[in-house]
Amino acid sequence: MSILVIIPAAGTGTRLGGDVPKQYRTFGGRTILQHVIDRFLADAEVTLIVVPVSADWLGRMQQELSGDRVEVVAGGETRQESVRRGLLAAEGSEFDVVAVHDAVRPFFTVESFRAAVDAARHDGAALPAIPVTDTIHGVHNGTIAATLDRRDLVAAQTPQCFRPQLLREVLERAAEEGIEGTDEAGLAARYGFTVRVVAGDPGNFKITRPEDFELAKARFS
Ligand code: C5P
Repeated sequence: MSILVIIPAAGTGTRLGGDVPKQYRTFGGRTILQHVIDRFLADAEVTLIVVPVSADWLGRMQQELSGDRVEVVAGGETRQESVRRGLLAAEGSEFDVVAVHDAVRPFFTVESFRAAVDAARHDGAALPAIPVTDTIHGVHNGTIAATLDRRDLVAAQTPQCFRPQLLREVLERAAEEGIEGTDEAGLAARYGFTVRVVAGDPGNFKITRPEDFELAKARFS
C-alpha cells in the first residue's frame, strides 16, 4: 500500500502581501510549502510527493525541494491543470491512493489524512470537511437570492484522496469538457462518483489572508 501526494503550488497569488506567492512565505524558518512537505514525509506510506510549481519557480524549487521522495514539476494555468500534470508526472510509479493537498494548508492532522485515505480505499474518493457555522446566502446584484440550509453544508478541506484511476478519469473528462472545479472532490461528485466526507479539523485552515499568516506564525511559535 502506498500513497502518492500531489501538492499543487503553481499559484502566483500574492494577496498576503509581499512579493512572493503565499506558499513561499516563511514561518519558523521554513516556507509554508516546506512545512506541508515535511508533514507528508513523516508518513512512511507516502512514497512520492509531486509538487507542480509555476515556470518562474521551477528551477529554484527543483534545487531546493527535490529529493528521495519529492519531485518538482511544471504546473499549469489552473489548479486543476497543475494537479493533472502532477498525476501524469507520477505515471510509472506504484500507488493505490492519490492525495491532493493545498500548498497553503500546513496544519492538516494525521487523523484526518488517515481517515480520508482509508475512506478512499473503501469508497473510491474522500475528503475532510468541517460543518459550516455561518449562515450562507446566495447573493445576486447585492441582494439575497437564496438562503442555503447550513445543516446540509460543509466546508471542504484537503488532503482529498482518490483511487488513482478514478482521479485520472475525472481530470481527463473535465479537461475534455472544459469544466473547471475549485476542488477535485467536487469534480468527482459531479461525475457521479461517491465521495465520502470524513471529519476535518478547524485548525487545518488555508493561509489566504494576512491574518491567516499571522495566525500560522503564532501557532508555530
Ligand atoms: O489560490 P487558490 O486557493 O485557488 O489556490 C489553491 C492551490 O492551487 C494553491 O496551492 C495554489 O498554489 C494552487 N494552484 C496551482 N496552479 C494554478 C493555480 C493555483 O497549483 N495555476
